[in-house]
Amino acid sequence: MEHFIDVVLPIPLEKLFTYKISEQESDFLKEGMRVAVPFGKSKIYTALVYKIHQTAPEVYEPKEIHQILDETPIVTQTQFKHWQWIANYYMCTLGEVVRSALPSAFLLESETLILPNKMDAIDESELKDEEFLILEALRYQSAIKINEIVGIIDRKNVLPIVNKLVAKKAIQLKEEIYEQYKPKLVRYVKLGEQYSSEEALETLLNSLTRAPKQSQVVLSLFSIQAKSKKPIKVTDLETESGGSKAVIKSLIEKGILNEYHIQTDRVQYDNASTRQKEIHLNDSQLEALKTIQHTFEENKVCLLYGVTSSGKTEVYIKLLEEALSNGKQALYLLPEIALTSQLINRLQAYFGDKVSVYHSKYSIHERVEVWNNVLKQKEKAQIVIGARSALFLPFSNLGIVVVDEEHESSFKQFDPAPRYHARDAAIVLANFQDSNCVLGSATPSIESYKNANNGKYGLAEMKHRFGNVLMPDIELVDIKEATRKKRMKGHFSERLLEEISEVLNEGEQIILFQNRRGFAPIIECTTCGHSSQCPNCDVSLTYHQFKNQLRCHYCGYHMALQLACEACGSNTLDKKGFGTEQVEQELEQLFPKARVGRMDLDTTRGKYAYEKIITSFEQHEMDILVGTQMVTKGLDFRNVSLVGIMNADTLLNFPDYRAHERSFQLLTQVAGRAGRTKKRGKVLVQTYNPYHQILQQVSNTDFEKMYSEQLYEREQYKYPPELRIIKVTLKDKDYNKLNEASQWFANSLRNVLNDTVLGPEFPVVSRIRRLYLKNIILKVQKDKSIVQTKNSIKRIEKSFNAISQYKSVKVVYNVDHI
Ligand code: ADP
Ligand code: ZN
Ligand code: ZN
Repeated sequence: MEHFIDVVLPIPLEKLFTYKISEQESDFLKEGMRVAVPFGKSKIYTALVYKIHQTAPEVYEPKEIHQILDETPIVTQTQFKHWQWIANYYMCTLGEVVRSALPSAFLLESETLILPNKMDAIDESELKDEEFLILEALRYQSAIKINEIVGIIDRKNVLPIVNKLVAKKAIQLKEEIYEQYKPKLVRYVKLGEQYSSEEALETLLNSLTRAPKQSQVVLSLFSIQAKSKKPIKVTDLETESGGSKAVIKSLIEKGILNEYHIQTDRVQYDNASTRQKEIHLNDSQLEALKTIQHTFEENKVCLLYGVTSSGKTEVYIKLLEEALSNGKQALYLLPEIALTSQLINRLQAYFGDKVSVYHSKYSIHERVEVWNNVLKQKEKAQIVIGARSALFLPFSNLGIVVVDEEHESSFKQFDPAPRYHARDAAIVLANFQDSNCVLGSATPSIESYKNANNGKYGLAEMKHRFGNVLMPDIELVDIKEATRKKRMKGHFSERLLEEISEVLNEGEQIILFQNRRGFAPIIECTTCGHSSQCPNCDVSLTYHQFKNQLRCHYCGYHMALQLACEACGSNTLDKKGFGTEQVEQELEQLFPKARVGRMDLDTTRGKYAYEKIITSFEQHEMDILVGTQMVTKGLDFRNVSLVGIMNADTLLNFPDYRAHERSFQLLTQVAGRAGRTKKRGKVLVQTYNPYHQILQQVSNTDFEKMYSEQLYEREQYKYPPELRIIKVTLKDKDYNKLNEASQWFANSLRNVLNDTVLGPEFPVVSRIRRLYLKNIILKVQKDKSIVQTKNSIKRIEKSFNAISQYKSVKVVYNVDHI
């Protein structure tokens, strides 16, 4: 009898591919194991075994596999089922899902580039001859393709050897960026409590008359304190007092000074004494927890709608604890890795080393480690915190899935396929795993809130901030008049400047939100109106002051800033619009003494870049943090009493049916960063249009009104959640061909489906990376079978692909496009 396997190749193939195996191989292999297989003329891929059987394929002679790569499966049946669902629902291939689901180290192929790993010194005596040869080759070349290794060690089956070198950390794969960052511990001091009264202090100073150095240190501490209310660093005290480390140490030992650390929790929690022992929920948290548990009993998803700083995290912790005590695994999804560092600390403080982190900025080694720990149900990975890709991990025993900040649109993957929504895919995952699922937000999405209102989900609410902290006071500042009368200083109204000065004087911190990165998005010639365009995309280049460059935000193209207009040669170039970099610079002029930092895409590249900025802000090394969207999300800073929104209008005027919902969410979230402790926070929103309904709803914290108005509009104008949207994008280098092809596609859709078909139309940016784009929007009624509709679309695509002149045109689907 002959034996075969169907495998998933990590490429966009519609079908599984069949290979021939021996009888022994058939006995050994299990579904979910990896094999190295030849493909095409000379390629080698890592493929996943999907099915083992005895039926020969009809249309081609199957090749033999090169090698089996695993001893036990690395992918479970439930994962396959979930991935198949993703492929079907989001209209892509299983191979595309596999490619984004598995850590790249699991998917070596002939084209993968490998590099020596400089971080780890390797013990050569432990290397096999062939491994040694590969490392030798890497000494003389900075990178080699796996294909080339075939020649170096003169054999075909190289993937197992390369896999071993990866496991030994002797090599790394091309896309890796390594960066080492040891978070620093900053030591602070304050005077012991017992010396807070004036008398006690005088007695203290008298007792120190014979220790002049110590007394000098105490006096210096006093004078620093008088100047500012900020925490005092040991290093600052040393400089100011001229006292040595030893003097300060002896004062600490005597208990005259108290030493403390801010953010000591950034290190591992191996020390049980620093662990947070217990959390006592307040009444409204208890109430919410009960509602959630009750919903779980009915096998429903629960939405936790709790205002900013109401203590949602503590409720999640209780839910995680419950799952763990039942011996289950837990998954905690976050939209953005920017958030994870603070959350990791909070969860580690409570759960110690049962918490693992998984996201794309982690190295292959770390990702493979977490994968294996989850697969083996190790205690270390009982709780996994991660961005959207964490939902692909090999869980086998999930008890709870938490989707935090469920409203965030970054849960939707835009490119490449699978273009899945992690919140929705997480709900399906929970379902496949018989796990509970809770969605949380201070500003739920219209979809989820509707599901909660009509009983599909449970709804738990927390309407007040924890510890009776007041909701921030939101003030709308009309800048129309001020702009007309030229009373703005740069982009700052007098009102905002006033509040900033006051907060700086109090020694507190400020967050300023600006919707754009870069300095001045566009440099325009005032003589002829020309602005530099990206040669690959249909956008103007944006100016980045830091590098004095013009850059394209779509493809990364950049050029040096020109001194004269490229078109007319005039040197009257002017900056239009403004971004984070410009706000930062204006601040430096307006408040020369303030320490200003910036958080946006440009300043947060690299693995620990977010952490560095967040830590530095937490440790009060900055007074003002200027940032884009990134500063709005879930961060919990103790000392921020003012949040300023530089310009709310660019958000509101965005041409998109979700612009209003998003503006409400974003403004409410960023406002929520203010005043999270005792003092009431202040939020100033600069706008040309203070009577806009959304701004009114934000300032009155009126979510219900926003929800009902938006829902009404969606019903009127036929948008989700009233119906589903499938966006079909066609791409080609040739403008005319694209026009023709997309017209053909849209006509066919109209003929076959009786759903609303809009377009084809050029999007706002109609050319990206040298390809023209055209969109067709399909609005599918909710009561119709989405499966049938998708099948019809796929059939149309088949006929489309059969037309020879359209061969080069790429078709991309985005289901539930947001
Ligand atoms: P949210 O996630 O809803 O914005 P958080 O969970 O960050 O709110 O809670 C806000 C603050 O209140 C945090 O500093 C948190 O530590 C504190 N907090 C919330 N619940 C409790 C509790 N039960 N006991 C002690 N502190 C709490
Ligand atoms: Zn010009
Ligand atoms: Zn470009």
